[in-house]
Amino acid sequence: MRELEERIKQDGRVLNQDVLKVDTFLNHQVDPMLMQKIGHEFYKYFQDYPITKILTVESSGIAPAILTGLEFQVPVIFARKHRSITMNKDLYVADVYSFTKKVANKISIAKTFLNSQDHVLIIDDFLANGQAVSGLTEIIQQAGAHLEGVGIVIEKTFQKGRQLIDQQQIPILSLARISGFQNGKVIFTEK
Ligand code: 5GP
Repeated sequence: MRELEERIKQDGRVLNQDVLKVDTFLNHQVDPMLMQKIGHEFYKYFQDYPITKILTVESSGIAPAILTGLEFQVPVIFARKHRSITMNKDLYVADVYSFTKKVANKISIAKTFLNSQDHVLIIDDFLANGQAVSGLTEIIQQAGAHLEGVGIVIEKTFQKGRQLIDQQQIPILSLARISGFQNGKVIFTEK
């Protein structure tokens, strides 16, 4: 998505070898006009899939997920993160290791929001090692729901997340694909 790439070039800050900061439009301050276009791109790609719910993780996935849900006219669920959680029969729970914060979290959603009739589109802000998507996939499996696809705003192709998703033959669309960082600049994957 050209506009997103331009925005990353303009506003993205390369923090180290593998982390990009985009807190002027996605991770802290949010640009709703750009999010609307992002939601539309995901809709165009997945519109023929029978999506009934959008699933993401708090907090940075929420903005693109909401605008995608608006396009599909379906509810958006965000999994909550916990450092520790006691057994609770009303929750679906999965483990996620946070790539940026280097901590293990559990993520959960209430069982009332997902069931075996649901067809789910996962949306997230970044794809790095695929931990967040794996945790969400596990929750979808626990609910007996169907995973229809994954929509990612920014994918870093040099980390192993894409490989994990491709191995499971899950349809995926990433709107910007980054192959690496060089001298503080973002290098996009050739189309
Ligand atoms: P994964 O679970 O694929 O390893 O990492 C994805 C999650 O980590 C995303 O939900 C995102 O919040 C965070 N993340 C991974 N890489 C980056 C990055 O380069 N920049 C930012 N801001 N967040 C990232």
